[in-house]
Amino acid sequence: MPRGGLSEALISPLLDWYDGAGRDLPWRAQPTPYRVWVSEIMLQQTRVEAVRAYFERWMEALPTIEALSEADEAVCLKLWEGLGYYSRVRSLHKAAKIVCAQYGGALPADYEALLGLPGIGDYTAGAIASIAFGLPQPAVDGNVLRVAARLTADETPITDLKYKKLIARRLSDLIPHDRPGDFNQALMELGATVCLPNGAPACGVCPLRHLCAALEDGTASLLPKRAPKKPRRIEERTVLLVRAGALVGLSQRPETGLLAGLWELPALAGHLTPSEVRQALAARGWQVDNLFSLRPAKHIFTHVEWHMTGYYVELSGRPEELQFVTPAALRANYALPSAFRPFLSVIEEEI
Ligand code: SF4
Repeated sequence: MPRGGLSEALISPLLDWYDGAGRDLPWRAQPTPYRVWVSEIMLQQTRVEAVRAYFERWMEALPTIEALSEADEAVCLKLWEGLGYYSRVRSLHKAAKIVCAQYGGALPADYEALLGLPGIGDYTAGAIASIAFGLPQPAVDGNVLRVAARLTADETPITDLKYKKLIARRLSDLIPHDRPGDFNQALMELGATVCLPNGAPACGVCPLRHLCAALEDGTASLLPKRAPKKPRRIEERTVLLVRAGALVGLSQRPETGLLAGLWELPALAGHLTPSEVRQALAARGWQVDNLFSLRPAKHIFTHVEWHMTGYYVELSGRPEELQFVTPAALRANYALPSAFRPFLSVIEEEI
């Protein structure tokens, strides 16, 4: 059983600190269920500073769950472009349709019912339930796990699901029923701004330092522990910026797997030389007028790394398997994953 400061003694110093030091974030201003939901989905795997502008733009374009449910998926993807992890926005869209069909357009004020919606797991259900509905449910994210591991000097890897469940249970017992949302946000905020990751906690300004077992032991910067990560798979690709006159050729990814269903720059497997590219395209019946190399690029996903060679390819004719669009339409209507951005820089002035 972990020792140290995961006890009732932390509630009041934590909330007092949060009242003074909590950041002024757009979704905190009016924590409606929809705003909390969208912000929490955007914040998964993404930094607060990156999310701000996306959140504001999203709320302006799709201010209600009903507006989201009626929007085209392409519009949602475009608003999400650059945030990554696109399955999040697809689930959000799907869930909005369900909320309109089953709950009259309002998120249910019920933890279990929230868990039944696409894209909403324990953490997000806890965040919405506590912040938007004032229900005493914990919301355990990576920040909270790090704070908990340090407060209790616990060396169990925080990547262990059992550890996460244990912390959720302990927080369920602790969470103050008069301010559950603030309590959850305060713990996350402490992790995000004071009890920082990568061995750099700012213990000198921490409101919980008098309770912290890791600080007492001198192990704060060594915690939390994590299970070793599996190395990422490396995929070599040859990415083609295909032009037919002023138009740009796009292809669509398969409906399942990485970046499912999204538009992309067409690609060939492996790192191909110019003559290999010409050969491969000739075999498809594409007529290459001109071809030159682009600067190579790398993109890191959670489990895969793309190591990409790039070519600018001018074609005569437009192969049917590609969708040709103007640079302006590409900018306005197509959500292209950020992995392809380095190759678009050569036509930056056009888009
Ligand atoms: Fe984290 Fe340091 Fe505060 Fe402990 S004292 S909770 S390690 S910032």
